[in-house]
Amino acid sequence: MFEHIKTLSLAMPAPVGWLLLLVSFALLLVGFLLGRYFYRPQPIANKSAVLVPESMPWHLLSITHASEALKSHQTLGLTELEANKRLLMVGANRLQTQRQKSLLSLFTAQFKSLLILILILAAVVAAAIGDIKDGLVIVVVVFINAFLGFYQEFQAEHSLATLKKMLELKAKLRRDGYVNQVAAEGLVPGDIILVEAGDKLPADGRILTEHSLEVDESSLTGESLPVTKQSAPLEQVTLPLAERSNMVYMNTTVTAGHAEILVTATGDHTEIGCLARLLAQAEESDTPLQQQLDSLAKRLALVALVVASTLFSFALFQGKPWMSTAFTAIALAVAAIPEGLPAVVTVTLALGMHRMAKQKAIIKRMAAVETLGCTTVICTDKTGTLTVNQMTVRQFYYQAKHYQVTGEGYQAQGEIQCSEGACDDLSALLQPLCLCNNSDWQNHSLGDPLEAALLVLAEKAGMNYLSLTHNWLRVAEIPFAASYKLMATFHKDSTGHTLRISVKGAPEVILKRCVQALGESDFACARLLNENTRMAATGQRVIAVAQRELALNDYDAGGDLFAYLTDLTFVGLISLIDPPRAEASVAIKRCHQAGIAVKMITGDQKVTAMAIANELGLQGDVLEGHELALMDDDTLAACINAVTVFARTAPEQKVRIVNALKQEGHIVAMTGDGVNDAAALKTADIGIAMGQIGTDVAKEAAEMILTDDNFATITRAIQQGRGIYENMVKFVRFQLATNIGAMLTVGGAAILGLPEPFTAVQLLWINIIMDGPPAMSLALDPQRESTMNDAPRDPKSTILSWTRFSNICWLGTLMALGTLTLLAIDAQHAKLSHATTLAFTTFVLFQVVNVFNARTERHTTFNRYFFRNKTLWCALLGVVLMQITVVYWPEAQALFHTQRLTLQDWCLASAIASSILVIEELRKQIARGLRRHLRL
Ligand code: ATP
Repeated sequence: MFEHIKTLSLAMPAPVGWLLLLVSFALLLVGFLLGRYFYRPQPIANKSAVLVPESMPWHLLSITHASEALKSHQTLGLTELEANKRLLMVGANRLQTQRQKSLLSLFTAQFKSLLILILILAAVVAAAIGDIKDGLVIVVVVFINAFLGFYQEFQAEHSLATLKKMLELKAKLRRDGYVNQVAAEGLVPGDIILVEAGDKLPADGRILTEHSLEVDESSLTGESLPVTKQSAPLEQVTLPLAERSNMVYMNTTVTAGHAEILVTATGDHTEIGCLARLLAQAEESDTPLQQQLDSLAKRLALVALVVASTLFSFALFQGKPWMSTAFTAIALAVAAIPEGLPAVVTVTLALGMHRMAKQKAIIKRMAAVETLGCTTVICTDKTGTLTVNQMTVRQFYYQAKHYQVTGEGYQAQGEIQCSEGACDDLSALLQPLCLCNNSDWQNHSLGDPLEAALLVLAEKAGMNYLSLTHNWLRVAEIPFAASYKLMATFHKDSTGHTLRISVKGAPEVILKRCVQALGESDFACARLLNENTRMAATGQRVIAVAQRELALNDYDAGGDLFAYLTDLTFVGLISLIDPPRAEASVAIKRCHQAGIAVKMITGDQKVTAMAIANELGLQGDVLEGHELALMDDDTLAACINAVTVFARTAPEQKVRIVNALKQEGHIVAMTGDGVNDAAALKTADIGIAMGQIGTDVAKEAAEMILTDDNFATITRAIQQGRGIYENMVKFVRFQLATNIGAMLTVGGAAILGLPEPFTAVQLLWINIIMDGPPAMSLALDPQRESTMNDAPRDPKSTILSWTRFSNICWLGTLMALGTLTLLAIDAQHAKLSHATTLAFTTFVLFQVVNVFNARTERHTTFNRYFFRNKTLWCALLGVVLMQITVVYWPEAQALFHTQRLTLQDWCLASAIASSILVIEELRKQIARGLRRHLRL
């Protein structure tokens, strides 16, 4: 073994040197290449051909004429074949606002730094005056630096582009008579799309049919209130967009009702596509951390420039050759200025966002990743987030009898049993449930899970609800909204004489509209409310069903539909289970451990909400929507910490809850899915939208989208956010310690009258090649499981606190002390080039060892994560091999002004470099002991 090692100290033959160099490079790059992606340019749409003239006055045409003009079938839509043909002609339905950054521009951006330009200039000057070797090395180093930067930015860009793709709009459309959900990019003129409240319109279109359709067109027309839409043709040719009530436009949002739309224009041919001024998308501003690091880098740059120029003047004064001194000064500035820090934050955040997306949390803005780690309270919806959102009817109360229902989920197998003997005929209960229903359960279009569950109940009772909907044609609808908590549909019978109104909704809301019809008055009402409470106490969601019949002549289609919802006949109470998610209670427990409060905000009634909260381990006060309405903001803020469940809350009240929590100093994450949740999502520090059941409006307002709608994903995302921040701290600690160490070593040597410890080329080598890959791989460090045992980070705290900064300076000082001591001792016995090679190698080894210090700030670095980061180990091995190459390979020796070292030298350098780890471990131990002592 000894013999073998000894051979190292002999001159290394050229091919071995090349081989080693190659292997080292390969190892350094292997980490970066682990997540290799391929660049796929977006196909450019052929926009030369359009199907119909853009100036077509669609609002003047009848539905039939509009469909004919677009050669579309009014009920079946386009055929798939025809749609594909049209897509080739008009191109994808996409606004050409943001072009992808080209690879070349990404690469050239790496040279836009002043320091790099100075370096290139220095290389050119060096080559011009005959020092071709130094010039060449500088150019090579600059290019390797550019390549590494380019590769990381490319990865970051790619990650962000993938996220954007995940956020692409979907549209429900009908082709060949079938309804499907497709990417909105595939829409073509002539397609028929189906939209409902909360949807963002994916194209311009002519309304074919609608029910209480209202659209928020403020992004296009500036009109702040939603406008009511209708389907009849208009007469005036020159109507402004805001008044074209039978048209809808891309990027506007449906606030109420639903409709079928014939697409008239897509992509850049839409109204919004023509308004170039609206298309400029805001560039994402820097995150707080990026801003902090930017200003930090600038301050350190100032210090480094002062030190470098002082050294330069000092050396000139001593009569040293100005050219090599200038080189060293420039190299020192490059080594000491951490100008890459903000860029590293971008890359780390982007890669973190990519990882989080894989774990079902899509983050839209980088700053949100940072904020996530500071979250102190999560306000979450119940249905779908804490529960599975799979409803099953379990009991119902009908004609003073109690019924139980068996069977699971959306399977029609199951039985209905009556507690009081034989079952009555259930058709009077089931009919309104099936009519007042938008689910198409048999065609696998579940729609609202609650409504699908009601159809499953009808199936279990053997009712053919399809024939029912044919006999009772729907003429109008009041869609369900969380604000008024009911839904009503209006149907005329086959004779055309009778109008039947079917209503379902929250029991107290429906009963209020039934009181007159109940006849027996308050007593009957109280009995029904008791039944409701009994069912809800098991955590089940309860709805009441009612109906009314009147002569069709008494119905005015254009009138206020709510006016008909009086004197309803009460029919029954239905109770549905929606079990809590298995992982939710564990996730809540982890939040509590992490110092994060969880508050449930639900539209459900108090009794149901409390039962579910108990099951999930949420303890605290309950506040109902009507109580909250009576409180002023200060009173609400005063009691908000004690409240855990907000029941029967209207979506609008969520904004007040967020504001009250913020007033109490919380960093609030808030979930939402509906149109009315948008304001609260925007007000919260982290708005979280549901990817599956969430509306486009909610998704647009949110910072984070859960693709699985699961509460546990929020907890995981917070953990990731904390972990990403921790990794950035590691990076900053490592990088700054090197910067300060280099500055102190070079500055210290000058002050102590020692020879220059590093040449310019060596300094660049240390800073760019030896330092970069290990530092970057710290961003991939595994996340501590115990991150969720710490309290949330204070968002106002800076990444470089005084304690942290002094620790970094301390580590830098140790490096300088160790390197200069060896330099001073060796310079006395050996040749100067040997002493500088030893100093250079010691400093490089200091970096290798200091990586481990950077990984933990308080705890020992020898923990179970020690070997987990494979990329880091590859990078470190690469660094050591590179250093061996530079020291032993004759060609490299000439370039780097190095000399071969003996085994003894290596042992000495390694021992001195390792001392930084031992000393830092001791410091951590003592600090831990002191902390424990002070706490006692
Ligand atoms: P959470 O906030 O927990 O997710 P939610 O938002 O689902 O609850 P809402 O949708 O506002 O709550 O429902 C409030 C009440 O309205 C329910 O308790 C139920 O009684 C009634 N309800 C819910 N969905 C419908 C519907 N499709 N038709 C009629 N009534 C409904």
